[in-house]
Amino acid sequence: MGDLAIYPGTFDPVTNGHLDIIQRGAEIFDRIIVAVASSRNKNPLFSLEERVEMLQKTTARQGVSVESFDGLLVDYARAKGARVIIRGLRAVSDFEYEFQLALMNRKLNPDMDTFFVMPSERYVYLNSGLVKEVSRLGGDISSLVPDEVLNKLKAKYNK
Ligand code: ADP
Repeated sequence: MGDLAIYPGTFDPVTNGHLDIIQRGAEIFDRIIVAVASSRNKNPLFSLEERVEMLQKTTARQGVSVESFDGLLVDYARAKGARVIIRGLRAVSDFEYEFQLALMNRKLNPDMDTFFVMPSERYVYLNSGLVKEVSRLGGDISSLVPDEVLNKLKAKYNK
């Protein structure tokens, strides 16, 4: 199919759900740039550098690269020469927000299209916020995040 797609997000931290989307995307597109937004307004637990590093360590495969970006996604995508944005869709609850975002991005750049990818049902209930909360309270998240992230979370919460 197309050559290059951008998969943007906060990735605070990357979970097996994100990795599932990246893997599915990598089977369709020749190249994927995982674009980590600084998302300062969301007060991330991990710094931008830490989020990029965790992704780099867990997505090492041909055709997938990780970068950070600031500002408007459509401007970043245009600068990279990408016309496709990948987003994950878990449940109906994701739909309204993602629908608005996709149409706003198309308004800002009419050449831009958003591709929605559904993860394996194993990861449908998973999000970064829940993973942080369960980890903070000492719950077992070893099947939900890569080891790299598990260790980083343990270190953050001294568990
Ligand atoms: P954002 O701040 O942009 O929502 P996230 O890192 O939370 O950043 O999510 C990035 C993208 O990955 C979004 O499209 C989100 O719907 C998707 N995503 C997050 N968790 C999962 C999951 N478990 N399965 C599938 N997609 C997911």
